[in-house]
Amino acid sequence: MNSNPWKLETLAVQAGYTPENGAPRVTPIAQSTTYKYDDAQSVADLFDLKRPGFFYTRLANPTVDCFEKKIAALEGGVAAVATSSGQSANALAMLNIARSGDHVVAISSLYGGTVSLFTNTFKKMGIEFTFVLPTASPEEIAGAIRPNTKAVFAEVLANPALVVLDIEKIAAAAHENGLPLVVDNTFPTPFLCRPFEFGADIITHSTTKYIDGHATSIGGIVVEKGGFDWGNGKFPELVERDESYHGTVYMRDFPASPYSTKLRVQWIRDIGNPMMPFNAFLSMLGCETLHVRMERHCQNALEMARFLESHPKVGWVNYPGLESSSQHALAKKYLPKGCSGVLCFGVKGGSKAGEKVMNSLKLAAIAVHVADLRTCVLHPASMTHRQLNEQELIAAGVSPDLIRLSVGLEHIDDLKADFDQALNA
Ligand SMILES: *Cc1c(COP(=O)(O)O)cnc(C)c1O
Repeated sequence: MNSNPWKLETLAVQAGYTPENGAPRVTPIAQSTTYKYDDAQSVADLFDLKRPGFFYTRLANPTVDCFEKKIAALEGGVAAVATSSGQSANALAMLNIARSGDHVVAISSLYGGTVSLFTNTFKKMGIEFTFVLPTASPEEIAGAIRPNTKAVFAEVLANPALVVLDIEKIAAAAHENGLPLVVDNTFPTPFLCRPFEFGADIITHSTTKYIDGHATSIGGIVVEKGGFDWGNGKFPELVERDESYHGTVYMRDFPASPYSTKLRVQWIRDIGNPMMPFNAFLSMLGCETLHVRMERHCQNALEMARFLESHPKVGWVNYPGLESSSQHALAKKYLPKGCSGVLCFGVKGGSKAGEKVMNSLKLAAIAVHVADLRTCVLHPASMTHRQLNEQELIAAGVSPDLIRLSVGLEHIDDLKADFDQALNA
């Protein structure tokens, strides 16, 4: 699996694309839907998956391929499939192993879009979810698992509740029941946490966030660790003939990466939501400085969290990097290099006072975005999590006064001054 001896920083800069003699130094943008061949047999072989190559950009593209290889290397996985968004990454990651009549256990502290996908859209498709609290004991998790359960899903660092997942605990509970642990690693990025090392089997990302890092491209990716036993009786679609792909048996024909091969040739083929080459180029460009940016995001966020915690107008601050955080012990184990640039706080006086502070900020912008190099703030209860009912908000860890602050890469003194003037306004 992790045969690459390079360190993460080197992988971020160099993995995914190795130019040949005289080729462009930077990953070229293959802005082409299709590929030219000299004989029909070459194309037939590609369709039969007999040899790797490109025949249509909906299924694979050279630029996207480089991006997939870079992220797979960074996460230490065997393969990755890039998608048009983080939403489609999470949707396909589940659809690849769960179908109508199946069930999934999810840890409840989740991104609003994911809650909506799981509770509304998947319900219509006949896939049922049970949500358990992140603090659930292994017995409680096991108790939620049914004979038709196909996976356990969780966020490594929940958006926006900032709950740190006890990956080893959840992975053990999943594995004891023959299930893969699928984790959304969007906020930590592989630079802060590599969930495969703690037992996760599949990783998803909204690459829209820190991986791009510059707010230019919506994108997602699904990464396969490799080595999960899909032949344990629970996953017939991975061990039986796929008649829609002329009898391919994924476990037999693609033993190194059966899950991601199936995801690409079934789901990306049929649903048609791949990442586009120009977005892959931009996301790759962003990713090449991921390690440098994440260090500063973490440093700025910790200093900002301390500043807000000691500010007389601030009621509470939630940042796993703070000693006062209930998540601090888990953060030390799973996020030793830092807890990302995202923190949450509430202003004394509640929602209304918080709104006033948001409106008074000059450097920090109100934006429906997070994990960007420009500092931004958002009020989840009235924005990203607006479609959730009160119970779902509580389960997702969103209080009505919660302001999500995504600390960017501006100078910390300027950021502190901006928040100080807004809080005192
Ligand atoms: C933003 C986000 C998503 C959805 O990603 P999009 O790229 O916006 O589709 C999923 N999970 C998490 C944790 C996110 O922050």
